[in-house]
Amino acid sequence: MEKKIAVIRGDGIGPEIVNEALKVLDVIAEKYGHRFSYVDADMGGCAIDKYGDPLPQHELDKCLGADSVLLGAVGGPKWDSVPGNMRPEKGLLRIRAGMGVYSNNRPAKIWKQLASASPLKPEIVEKGIDFIIVRELIGGVYFGEHKTFEDGGEKVSEDVMRYSESEIERIGRIGFETARKRRKKLCSVEKSNVLDTSRLWKSVMHRLAEEYPDVELSDMLVDNCAMQIVKNPAQFDVIVTENMFGDILSDEASMITGSIGMIPSSSLGAGTNGLYEPIHGSAPDIAGKNIANPIGTVLSAAMMLRYSFDMPKEADDIEEAVGKVLSDGWRTADIMSGGEGLKSAGCSEMGDLICDAIKAMK
Ligand code: NAD
Repeated sequence: MEKKIAVIRGDGIGPEIVNEALKVLDVIAEKYGHRFSYVDADMGGCAIDKYGDPLPQHELDKCLGADSVLLGAVGGPKWDSVPGNMRPEKGLLRIRAGMGVYSNNRPAKIWKQLASASPLKPEIVEKGIDFIIVRELIGGVYFGEHKTFEDGGEKVSEDVMRYSESEIERIGRIGFETARKRRKKLCSVEKSNVLDTSRLWKSVMHRLAEEYPDVELSDMLVDNCAMQIVKNPAQFDVIVTENMFGDILSDEASMITGSIGMIPSSSLGAGTNGLYEPIHGSAPDIAGKNIANPIGTVLSAAMMLRYSFDMPKEADDIEEAVGKVLSDGWRTADIMSGGEGLKSAGCSEMGDLICDAIKAMK
């Protein structure tokens, strides 16, 4: 299969970690007879330096013309004082809007080799943590009308939470499709005991469920879900929820798995062109030192293969290779603690080790 991937290396550790993900993709291409071609696109601080704009239209066009986009990270102290609408992070908002990605998908997976990094009790972690939160990204209260006004001699503020059936349906479908590619369990999270938007959410999810008889749908109130994520995370496969609930729950979920350097994400819209990036930032404190953990980016590339290119076996290979390297005791500096006989790997060595593990597989 031939695929064109737009590559945004970005700032800070971005170029280092993206390099390792590309090495891994090349090994997968070789093994399975695919052809991945890469188109570099500038976004963030480096684009400000080059073009005076964090994401010029011509760079966005490169991303829109590709089959998917792999992103490192953007931003850094060098650009902290530039005006708000010119900040590197504006590039992030612009690319999400430009690509029309309305669904953010963040896995919460604990690697058994790193279990001691979880703040949860061992008996909870031992049951396994491996779920995805599918969060609606461009609707709900964050995008409703916001206003502050005087009423009865005091200030009053309002933020409007609004969802249409079609907005709920399109994110619901991503939830069902994601569950179909995993263990086929979907938990729809809302606050239907209080909110009209949640009652509409729930009814749309149940209507959609008729089209996905192979997926088991359950409902959960968001307050209960926040408790269940720390009490019994093993029960979840895929959680689908609206923007603000997803924002809060996905941060909670990433905390229970340990290191920020390990977690990938995807953002998807109507087509298969997705935006794949680790959840961390550009880590300027460690940039250029070859000590960053590239695994979040490598696993983002695996998500691209699974969810945009329909290459589940190839994605499995990458995830299995990461597991093998961790089992062999290799660690980047951020995940070094808690264990005997661990071996230190730099960013590029970690990429090489993952490549070698893929090559060594049958
Ligand atoms: P950060 O995620 O960059 O770093 C937080 C801490 O985690 C740092 O100590 C860093 O060294 C460490 N860390 C992060 N990724 C790591 C990795 N792969 N391996 C090892 N250690 C890692 O967050 P921050 O310091 O708050 O932000 C730095 C810059 O990144 C800011 O300019 C911020 O705006 C930007 N940012 C960008 C994105 C993005 O591009 N999507 C997301 C968040 C922050």
